[in-house]
Amino acid sequence: MKSEDREKYSRQILFAGIGQAGQEKLLAASAVLVGCGALGTVAAGLLVRAGVGRLRIIDRDFVELSNLQRQTLFDEQDAREALPKAVAAERHLRAINAGVEVEGIVADLTPRNAAELLGGFPLILDGTDNFETRLLVNDVAISLGVPWVYAAAVGSYGVTMTVRPRETACLACLLETGGSSNGIGAHVGNEATCDTVGVLGSAAGAVASIEATEALKLLAGKPEALHGRLISCDVWAGKFQSIRVPRNPDCRACGRRELSYLEGDAQPHITMCGRDSVQIHERSRRLDLPELGQRLRAASTSEVRNNDFLLRFRVPPYEMTVFADGRAIIKGTKDPAVARSLYARYIGA
Ligand SMILES: [Zn+2]
Repeated sequence: MKSEDREKYSRQILFAGIGQAGQEKLLAASAVLVGCGALGTVAAGLLVRAGVGRLRIIDRDFVELSNLQRQTLFDEQDAREALPKAVAAERHLRAINAGVEVEGIVADLTPRNAAELLGGFPLILDGTDNFETRLLVNDVAISLGVPWVYAAAVGSYGVTMTVRPRETACLACLLETGGSSNGIGAHVGNEATCDTVGVLGSAAGAVASIEATEALKLLAGKPEALHGRLISCDVWAGKFQSIRVPRNPDCRACGRRELSYLEGDAQPHITMCGRDSVQIHERSRRLDLPELGQRLRAASTSEVRNNDFLLRFRVPPYEMTVFADGRAIIKGTKDPAVARSLYARYIGA
């Protein structure tokens, strides 16, 4: 180990659970994080500071003012520039620890790109805000045989569980309690979201800290230290709970290996957490953003703004944000039909 690293990580090396050997493993390790919001920024910050050698961050969204209350890597300048979260996170994390290789990828994780984006990493971390994507991550982790750490937060409540294929229960064991395929999706769309009940930064921070600690145990070669339970907490009520989740021998995912979220069709549109909006991603195509910007300005569309990564304009009462991969986020509606017609009209069918 370089002497600078010995200094940088000295307090972690002193910690008996990690030590010099564990730190060397962390420096040589890698992980991939899906989603860089409240959970993801906390987990990524902890792992990069801890010296995990390489971190890939996948996020489809951009920074807004309403994120700053809980998304600890971002600042007001990021929100003014509407930087994609993956780009802003990469910049801030590189400034925090230049010794870590951080790679931000602006993309929506779908069944089509999941194996490519998550493959090759020994650990997947959940920083997402919806169960569709979590069940996709669960399917990919089972298919690749790699562990992943589930985490979620809403209101003052947070929950986390570490999934190790073949050894522990998976997310489908936990959620799809019906045991048959009619359990799929039963929890999707019904859960309380940050949209409806808000979220405390401290609730996300509490479970993301436990999530990051589980990652350190796995990457430092200490799987025996994993907590092995579903941990939940309510930081407002001051209550902590942990329960053991048994494997379901007939689980769709880890039992029968019906990886329906991975093998199914991509979700064309998803209502997102944190605001009244719909994402449209029906076709994968590259958009020429400067050209689109000129066309919209020529048509006197209001408030057309762009940076290197996205273009945004207003069609009152809606606001559309378009990414170079053809994706668009339409704010001001939850109706996919409205979103689809706006997309066709302003971006193209
Ligand atoms: Zn399972």
